[in-house]
Amino acid sequence: MVLREILREKGAAVHSIGPDATLDNVVQKLVEFNCGSLVVCREDRMVGIITERDILRCCAARRIPLDACRVEDTMTGDVVTGKPGDSVEDTMGLMTEKRIRHLPILEDGRLCGLISIGDVVKAQHRIMAIENQYLKTYIQG
Ligand code: AMP
Repeated sequence: MVLREILREKGAAVHSIGPDATLDNVVQKLVEFNCGSLVVCREDRMVGIITERDILRCCAARRIPLDACRVEDTMTGDVVTGKPGDSVEDTMGLMTEKRIRHLPILEDGRLCGLISIGDVVKAQHRIMAIENQYLKTYIQG
């Protein structure tokens, strides 16, 4: 199974925010969209990613109000991305190795979706259930 199949079901929506927004704006959006990350875009170009974990880190390190912290100073600028043709198995390995739970997906350099670790686990679970069923049928004849 490849990521394109997950995105076909999930859709291509990627929630984003600008680099000059504040962490308070980020929290409001994360709650509004019930998600754990926002891609940071400047004039339609992805320049970073910010997640719940970055907010926690900022709170612990700076101890100043969220509306005094800028996204650009808190985000991760070097974004790890995937492609629609990447396999679920390889993506799970990549996300585990890099310790990230959110992966923007690019096709021809354009954002076409975002895969979370939850999406990957769900897909992997489905693959294993199907394989299990085949094996049981094979063993039982
Ligand atoms: P997460 O586990 O996704 O909440 O993110 C943990 C840390 O990795 C945070 O500092 C994020 O900014 C960063 N991060 C999350 N996703 C990515 C990604 N796709 N590329 C680079 N860094 C990321």
